[in-house]
Amino acid sequence: MQFSTWQRYLKQFIIVLWIGSLAGCQRPESGHQPGLFQLPMEYLHLMQTPLPAQLPVPVQGVKPQQIADTWGAARSQGRRHEGVDIFAKRGTPVLSTTEGLILSVGVNTLGGNVVWVLGPDMSRHYYAHLESYGQFSQGDWIKTGDVIGYVGNSGNARTTPPHLHYGIYRNGEGAINPYPYLIRD
Ligand SMILES: [Zn+2]
Repeated sequence: MQFSTWQRYLKQFIIVLWIGSLAGCQRPESGHQPGLFQLPMEYLHLMQTPLPAQLPVPVQGVKPQQIADTWGAARSQGRRHEGVDIFAKRGTPVLSTTEGLILSVGVNTLGGNVVWVLGPDMSRHYYAHLESYGQFSQGDWIKTGDVIGYVGNSGNARTTPPHLHYGIYRNGEGAINPYPYLIRD
């Protein structure tokens, strides 16, 4: 007897839910590398979790009202500002707005010391101009509120006061404005 198409889809759906529920209770500790079997479960968990409509401000002690919406503002060489700048004293902790996996920790010309996090719904979160990094390395699992690094003015921000440049890139959409996520109406 042949399974009909919808029965096959139902079976696959149940398997995905089952794997997802296993993944849900197997979060590794912050700052630890997921094991061989945990990594695919982390990806599944992030695929299944929607990006929250509201995210915490990623700089310790900064209130949403203190942030200016500079999305799309002109930048050098015809670029547009693809993020939000959050000004704070040098060395202020930068906190992850989401749970997720550390995609990369490194240096680039514009961003200086930067960290990329893969978050819910496979969104990517970009933390730039850091003074220094938190205690983790590429591939580590982090939780919301974990220290990403410390506010600085590395990269092309060296002539400006210390601030965090925070960017959100939605899967399949590219850069989106983080400001409405941080500001409550
Ligand atoms: Zn910026």
